[in-house]
Amino acid sequence: MTFEELGVMPELLRAIEEMGYEQPMPIQAETIPAILQQGRDLVGLAQTGTGKTAAFGLPLLQSVDIVPVYSEYQIKKDRKTGKWLDPEDAPQPQALILAPTRELCLQIASDLQDYAKYLRGIAILPVYGGSSIGSQIGQLKRGVHVVVATPGRLIDLIERGACRLDNIRTLVMDEADEMLSMGFQDDIETILQQVPAEHRTMLFSATMPRQIAAIAKRYMSDPIEITIGNKNEGSANVNHVYYLVHAADKYAALKRIVDYYPNIYGIIFCRTKAETQEIAKNLMEEGYNADALHGDLSQEQRDMVMHKFRTRHLQLLVATDVAARGLDVNDLTHVINYGLPDDVEVYTHRSGRTGRAGKKGISIAIVHIKERRRLNDIERIIGKKFEKGQIPTTDKIIEKQLFGLADRLEKVEVKEEEISQFLDPVAKKLGWLSNEDLLKRIVSLEFNRMLEFYKGSENLDIPEERPKRERADRGEARNSSYAREYKGQQTQAEPGYARLFINLGKRDGIFPKQLISLMNSLVHHRIEMGRIDLLTNFSYFEVPEKDARFVIKDMCGADWKGRQVTVQPADAASNDRNGRPAKKNFNRKNKDYSNEENYKHHDDNRTFGERMQHKTRGGHRGK
Ligand code: AMP
Repeated sequence: MTFEELGVMPELLRAIEEMGYEQPMPIQAETIPAILQQGRDLVGLAQTGTGKTAAFGLPLLQSVDIVPVYSEYQIKKDRKTGKWLDPEDAPQPQALILAPTRELCLQIASDLQDYAKYLRGIAILPVYGGSSIGSQIGQLKRGVHVVVATPGRLIDLIERGACRLDNIRTLVMDEADEMLSMGFQDDIETILQQVPAEHRTMLFSATMPRQIAAIAKRYMSDPIEITIGNKNEGSANVNHVYYLVHAADKYAALKRIVDYYPNIYGIIFCRTKAETQEIAKNLMEEGYNADALHGDLSQEQRDMVMHKFRTRHLQLLVATDVAARGLDVNDLTHVINYGLPDDVEVYTHRSGRTGRAGKKGISIAIVHIKERRRLNDIERIIGKKFEKGQIPTTDKIIEKQLFGLADRLEKVEVKEEEISQFLDPVAKKLGWLSNEDLLKRIVSLEFNRMLEFYKGSENLDIPEERPKRERADRGEARNSSYAREYKGQQTQAEPGYARLFINLGKRDGIFPKQLISLMNSLVHHRIEMGRIDLLTNFSYFEVPEKDARFVIKDMCGADWKGRQVTVQPADAASNDRNGRPAKKNFNRKNKDYSNEENYKHHDDNRTFGERMQHKTRGGHRGK
């Protein structure tokens, strides 16, 4: 099927051909003949990115009667007749498109201008709030054929007598669900009541809430319903992936995900302005190419951020749902839900911003345990399953970033002539380096931050099904920060090893290197350290079973940056009601850690408590 076969007129065909539209997209193939040939009202369930602007735009433009508009001068005086022209006689709008935001208005108007390139004399005017109403009134006086408007500004113009709707033959409501959720319902009804009965209405919406169905029923006659995908379903090109983490790990998980996709170009949706600001600020401070978009910014600031994002000078846009509404970008690789929205429709909108125009997209949800159930609701309504993603490990991220860097090195355009004069001094300075060294250094420039950052990072994933014992621990230890971190972290020690708890974590500046040196400086014979699990406030590490008691003895009570060190068997640490390590001891014979009395060492007869007292007074470590 071609556009010509759908009945599109030659002037429009020429323009869209130049724009590279070879074949109609499905929504166009269905919509265009329904409007051109059958003249029916239409309800289109489709997201942006499905080609709906041309679907309604082409038939709309084709039906416009291009009556010449007045020039500025003619409004004042008609040259031939010498009479002043009455603006009342200027062509009145024949087609009206309502859109929720200024940005969408501008986008639609600009697309229509492109399609109408060969329709001489057609006047298409976007009218929206936040810009000079005077110049919009001026253009309406000279005459306009197509108005693309936000509801609020249009009402304003109608009330001022600057815009009349009695000539409207085609009315389009684009992103109708968005308009309703932005509170435009009353304005829309006021507008619909002013449009003459004899007109054709097209309503497009990504989702179909009840109010939209009610509007369609009230104001449209026997509309054809065209659905591209299921109602409320996102684009077929979108994969939905979720990562299950503790609430406190959401930001860390976000960074890992972003790091794993070096070429990411996406929006991170937050629930509040404050969260948006905080996440964007943190990301920027940590060197990410990110910025915030929210309602507290001035229009000028918002325009600037959106421009940077559209032109890809910005990789990550951290935005609230409302602020991102007007942003129409087609080639996002990812949408990240920093937490799930309460409303499934909001999720559909968010995820529908990727996977557009035939491209693949990924919609990621970083979800904490309490949100797990909401995920099921979303799955049910969108009719798609979320894949469970594993938060990328440090090695995976580094590998991916290295590959990304190599890819950029391969693809970078070398401006031979311009760069040649600057190369010589650089080549001289680096002449002593071998190719291999040079490569290592280039790579290190980019990756040192990441290596430093991820050194000793823990696994952030929460296994979906927890073993019973852990669940019991979780129940016992609710409300404790120790317990929050502890959840999902306990594992069995490797055979032959004992797992020990230490009351120091990353917050205390403890990373594997520091932990190993601390142990080496305190324990008087060399001990091989096994697996280390670093957490924020405390950590676990493994040492050979035979050495565990020496390690506990020698490390306990030592000072680390003003904090008194506690080390004890890990399973003793989990039995306290508050999730805090219980003061339980280690019995070397039967490995019974539960009895404080047993906590004695051959050359140290003090109890745990006595040792503590002694250490606080700064006594020797009793090696
Ligand atoms: P829309 O949903 O109207 O925002 O369109 C999404 C994108 O698809 C826009 O970049 C359009 O320019 C493009 N597009 C629309 N129709 C076609 C077509 N038939 N062939 C190729 N690209 C198209």
